Amino acid sequence: MRQREAVPFGRPRIVGHELDYIAQAVAAGELSGDRSFTARCHRWLEATCSSTRAFLTHSCTAALEMAAILTEVGPGDEVIMPSYTFVSTANAFTLRGATPVFVDVRADTLNLDEQLVAAAVTERTRAIVPVHYAGVAAEMGALMKLADRHDLWVVEDAAQALLSTFEDRALGGIGHLGCFSFHETKNVTSGEGGALTVNDPRLVERAEVVREKGTNRSQFFRGATDKYTWVDVGSSYLPGELIAAFLYAQLERANDITAERRAVVRRYEEAFAGLHADGRIALPGVRLSERGNGHMFYFLATDLAARTGLLDHLRGCGVGAVFHYVPLHSSPAGERYGRTGSAMPVTDAVADRLVRLPVYGGITEAEQERVVAAVLDYFARATP
Ligand SMILES: *Cc1c(COP(=O)(O)O)cnc(C)c1O
Repeated sequence: MRQREAVPFGRPRIVGHELDYIAQAVAAGELSGDRSFTARCHRWLEATCSSTRAFLTHSCTAALEMAAILTEVGPGDEVIMPSYTFVSTANAFTLRGATPVFVDVRADTLNLDEQLVAAAVTERTRAIVPVHYAGVAAEMGALMKLADRHDLWVVEDAAQALLSTFEDRALGGIGHLGCFSFHETKNVTSGEGGALTVNDPRLVERAEVVREKGTNRSQFFRGATDKYTWVDVGSSYLPGELIAAFLYAQLERANDITAERRAVVRRYEEAFAGLHADGRIALPGVRLSERGNGHMFYFLATDLAARTGLLDHLRGCGVGAVFHYVPLHSSPAGERYGRTGSAMPVTDAVADRLVRLPVYGGITEAEQERVVAAVLDYFARATP
């Protein structure tokens, strides 16, 4: 059994009216999806992302699967994405028979390197899927221009990026489609949950159908058609109303949640500036507390051995620190279903060196102090 950590990596919590709203939904007899709380979540996301339409889903994974259907990728088609990402970014497109083409990331943001993306475009490329790692924007200006030139779809994996911006535009509202996660580990959560933002009006009607099991149910209830029937492929992507009720209470507090987490990240940045200056660790190439949304704090150890030593030490101190990702290009399924579109020096190095520290709303001064002390203590003992 895993030992209980004194300072866990994350800790979900109630931030406002979650339980009241769930009670309201039950009292109103609204349990299945697309009722009043779902509608409120949709309007919140549309306003925040300046999206044509937003749709709650069961997860970001589900939103990515909807995006793969809507972009009509299939066997023989290629979709360019980072290797340094969560599996769902690739798996959603692989399910449609398309080939993920993995490209290296920039060392400063760990997001898609736009020059390598340009070099990886072929006749078969249909879409680009930028991931906004740690809530820091990928190079959306360059990527949208490239997509425009080659007539490609852009699907933002904005799982980590709620309330982050690129040149004052909300992430998830810039590509043709955006995909959000409300998983327990994200800033704003409903346990499991997600959303698809549709920013290209051409895709709205089909998105409704795909999300409703391939039926025209939404049009039928609007009175836009007189038959409720099977009209296209789809699946059941809409969550029930209890999830939406919980989520809406979190969305109402999303700005406060972001500000609080940014302050936690800023404290780590300040505490470890000395280690960075001494070359014992490398802080990210951008200020996560400014460019990010407080989703994550990470730094890079000098190499794999140093990271392993540090993580062992932190575990011993009861501090829940973690690393990720196993790069998709070297994962078993990534090798089987995808291919690389560039060399991967940054991805491979980061995968061995990255360390994430606890960031959550409600982390106490004492808890954060304990994390900082444990890290400093490790480097005070370890010979450089
Ligand atoms: C969390 C995450 C996902 C998956 O989100 P779910 O809601 O759990 O499906 C996808 N992509 C990235 C980059 C993530 O961080």
